[in-house]
Amino acid sequence: NLQTHFPIKKGAFIKKTVGTVKAVDGVDLKVQQGEVLGLVGESGCGKSTLARTVMQLVPTTGGTVVLEGRNLTSSSDSDVLSIRRDLQMVFQDPYASLNPRSTVFATLAEPLLVHKVCKSSEVTARVTELMKTVGLAPRFMQKYPHEFSGGQRQRIAIARALALRPKVVIADEPVSALDVSIQAQILNLLADLVRKMGLSLIFIAHDLSVVKHISDRVAVMYLGKIVEIGKAEDIIEKPAHPYTRALVSAIPTPNPDEERNRKRIVLPGDPPSPINPPSGCTFHPRCPHAKDVCKTERPLLEVFKDREVSCHLKAEI
Ligand code: SF4
Ligand code: MG
Repeated sequence: NLQTHFPIKKGAFIKKTVGTVKAVDGVDLKVQQGEVLGLVGESGCGKSTLARTVMQLVPTTGGTVVLEGRNLTSSSDSDVLSIRRDLQMVFQDPYASLNPRSTVFATLAEPLLVHKVCKSSEVTARVTELMKTVGLAPRFMQKYPHEFSGGQRQRIAIARALALRPKVVIADEPVSALDVSIQAQILNLLADLVRKMGLSLIFIAHDLSVVKHISDRVAVMYLGKIVEIGKAEDIIEKPAHPYTRALVSAIPTPNPDEERNRKRIVLPGDPPSPINPPSGCTFHPRCPHAKDVCKTERPLLEVFKDREVSCHLKAEI
């Protein structure tokens, strides 16, 4: 039941709270060891805030984050260092997330030294191993980020995330800033690492075409809530929620004939503001199936045909 609400303040001197942004509004998710959970939704739906809340980079306003029985949300500051070891994040923009003044060696050595995971005499060997793990030649370790391509920089960012052998990695749109030709390489690398290292990966993307190949399960988020979650193939083949259906219909197919005959579901309007979300089902202003009940009653996330979905009309649709 994770919640991250931000107050909106107004006023030049005396700030008054005039509203609340419900960025994450009662999310329930579980990720198993060795599992890839794809998290999708339009920009502004709360995916990144959810990731930051799980990472304890943003304070939780309600609910809990539990890792192997340990409640991270009630942990004291002294526990934060150990939380950092277990949970790591890879950001969208490798250009911004790496320090331009640090060599690859310095970037990868820093977490090892701060967390004292190896002796200083072993750091070079560990950095070499990390570079090999992500497919970079160790002879480049004295180079700076600007000397690498975008894909290589994202490899460095992944190596840094892996340096402390975390249990969970959250990758927030890790390929959306990269050329399409490079995206597949990075996706394959992440999938490989999950398999080899038994990591749990939460993979965030704004469309399904990226997550469908690497995810075991997929969660679809809309306006701070999960609206559908299930096995990746079930969600892609037989989406139940009208919003998921629209996302699935937007996945391009490689076959041009099929592509021409496909029916795209185009949703009217932009996602509504999380400040004053619509009543009832927050998707109702854009939903092609909406009925009166949708405007007044909020649907719950319920088990339906091997997945969970929150829609009043799931059975009819
Ligand atoms: Fe559409 Fe109603 Fe289902 Fe919401 S509850 S997704 S508005 S049919
Ligand atoms: Mg984001």
